[in-house]
Amino acid sequence: MATNALILDQAVEEQWKRVRGRLRAELGEAAFKTWLRPLSLDGVAGGDVVMRVPSGNMKDWVLSRCGERLKDLWCGENAGITGIAIKVGQTERRAVRREVVPVRRDMGMVAHDHPVADPVEEADAFAASLDPRFTFDNFVVGKTNEFAHAAARRVAEADSVTFNPLFLYGGVGLGKTHLMHAIAWHVRSKKQGRKVLYMSAEKFMYKFIRALRYKDTMAFKDQFRAVDVLMIDDIQFIAGKDSTQEEFFHTFNALVDQARQVVISGDRSPSDLDGMEERLRSRLGWGLVADIHPADYELRLGILQAKAAQFPDVAVPPRVLEFLAHKVTSNVRELEGALNRVLAHCQLVGRPVTLESTQDLLRDLLRAQDRRVTIEEIQKKVAEHFNIRLADMVSARKQRAIARPRQIAMYLAKRLTSRSLPEIGRKFGGRDHTTVMHGVKKVEELMAGDPAFAEDVELLERMLES
Ligand code: ADP
Ligand code: MG
Repeated sequence: MATNALILDQAVEEQWKRVRGRLRAELGEAAFKTWLRPLSLDGVAGGDVVMRVPSGNMKDWVLSRCGERLKDLWCGENAGITGIAIKVGQTERRAVRREVVPVRRDMGMVAHDHPVADPVEEADAFAASLDPRFTFDNFVVGKTNEFAHAAARRVAEADSVTFNPLFLYGGVGLGKTHLMHAIAWHVRSKKQGRKVLYMSAEKFMYKFIRALRYKDTMAFKDQFRAVDVLMIDDIQFIAGKDSTQEEFFHTFNALVDQARQVVISGDRSPSDLDGMEERLRSRLGWGLVADIHPADYELRLGILQAKAAQFPDVAVPPRVLEFLAHKVTSNVRELEGALNRVLAHCQLVGRPVTLESTQDLLRDLLRAQDRRVTIEEIQKKVAEHFNIRLADMVSARKQRAIARPRQIAMYLAKRLTSRSLPEIGRKFGGRDHTTVMHGVKKVEELMAGDPAFAEDVELLERMLES
């Protein structure tokens, strides 16, 4: 079934466009122009994507700087791909296939009196920053995300601003970015001419710093002035970055004052955002705050079924999906990754998907899931290490000799498990999430100031991980 012929069809071309778009958005324009624009696609052979660059230098750069990322993006686009290969030199095909960007000047951009991005580039950048698969249609709703989903839909469909901002938060891989992209796609498709700007907080900071460096803050600010919907993903990134926060705060207020919709995501609630200025923190909580919890079994199964249905020519037995939903509990991203691996493998070797092949294929992943530390194990290990009673992990005793190890255990629970702060609090004798927060912060401070203490904690962490 699998051949080594070079395949280059429209689907692969489309995938390549998206991969390039993503890299462009992630690496920035300068790096893209220098290193990635010259990268061309030959096609797919066996499980490898074959790409081509003009020189060995470029090949080294691409592989060392974004080889992993390139591979991940390709694997995300095409379940049949397992690796990338970069060749050096020209092919004849490359000479005839030049990149032609259709220039459309009819996109209704207003004239500016200082240089701004080309409208075509801007439209490209919009599409490039969004994942085409992250739509509402592809989002499976369950108990743990229904509130966030309803809020996102509401924002996407509303004609006027109802709550501002919408703040979505939850652990990694639970669908925050998916929901934000879904809002963007929806707004763009339903309301022609509405300007939606989606950006990670990291990108916001990067652009801001660059604007400062090139004394171009006018254009930077202008970019936001004209948008109807602004979305900033992973806001926690600008924690501790004071001037970026300041700038963001102004941008945010300006938009809210003009009744423009703002959507923000973060890995924790506004009030728990450490290193964030108080006024910004409180401002972020003014609208609607919606959290996404880790998916429960039903939702995990639902997501797998929806995913499997996208590959109608591969039959996946229900018990395989149930097995995966049961075993891969960490987050949706890993769940999807597991299914992709199974599908890709079976497609490549041309054998049907079975429970046995799944177990075989995912052996390391499953072991890692099994090995994930529990809060109970952490408490036990830490109590042993500091020679205190296990019961004191949950007791109310406040003496430092007991409270400190307890805080260390909280810190490790935060780092090594995917439990939320309130969940951790509950496991420590029903403590409040702010107490956990405080404990984590305290340990971080002590580690920063006291190398011996840091070493001790790191040792515990390593022991728990192994
Ligand atoms: P986050 O931004 O919260 O870290 P993402 O939005 O990137 O997470 O989601 C990780 C992956 O899981 C994405 O591929 C996304 O499409 C998928 N995913 C998450 N939640 C759902 C869901 N409810 N239905 C379908 N896919 C989901
Ligand atoms: Mg995300």
